[in-house]
Amino acid sequence: MGVSRRDFLKLSGGTVLVASLGVNLDPAKAYAKDLRIKNAKQTTTICPYCSVGCGIVVYVENGKVINTEGDPDHPISEGTLCAKGSSVSQLVNNDTRVKKPMYREPGGAAWKEVEWDWALDRIARLVKDARDKSFKTVSKAKVKEKQADGTMLDVEKEFVVNRTDAIAHIGSAALDNEECYILQKMIRSWGLVHIEHQARI
Ligand code: SF4
Repeated sequence: MGVSRRDFLKLSGGTVLVASLGVNLDPAKAYAKDLRIKNAKQTTTICPYCSVGCGIVVYVENGKVINTEGDPDHPISEGTLCAKGSSVSQLVNNDTRVKKPMYREPGGAAWKEVEWDWALDRIARLVKDARDKSFKTVSKAKVKEKQADGTMLDVEKEFVVNRTDAIAHIGSAALDNEECYILQKMIRSWGLVHIEHQARI
């Protein structure tokens, strides 16, 4: 339902009037909210947006998220959320949400929906090809080396590196401890050295 400018002014004027008469609306607001979430199942989660990791209470009814709010029992955020965390229910309740992988061909202008299996196979193929093409077993670098007469000289030496510089990996604040552990094992086994985290960008 749309609210005209006139309706808005009437409404906000009324609210100011009630407040100015000394009527505390907080209990009524809390009651209205309690009614809305009365039959909802309550679970907790962590905000996925940044590494602060604020706690969120999620209310679900009939398989649908009907409310999210700051978790007062969370030791980090103690019930507070920033604007992004406060709107987190929009991640699921949003008609424009992208629910399938999207693919745009090299040089193409249009995005098209693809299946997860196809997308994962394609990513795996490209990662493997990029790694194989760029993998280095040794690399040369200059190091200071002490000479017989005691002077230091820059000397080029070869080191075993077993790495690729062609692929970078970026982590997410939405990953938990175990996911990070497995990811690190996997990407380091491929020889990646450019490993970063979204929170540092
Ligand atoms: S985006 Fe906001 S609510 Fe979410 S974890 Fe970061 S500070 Fe907390």
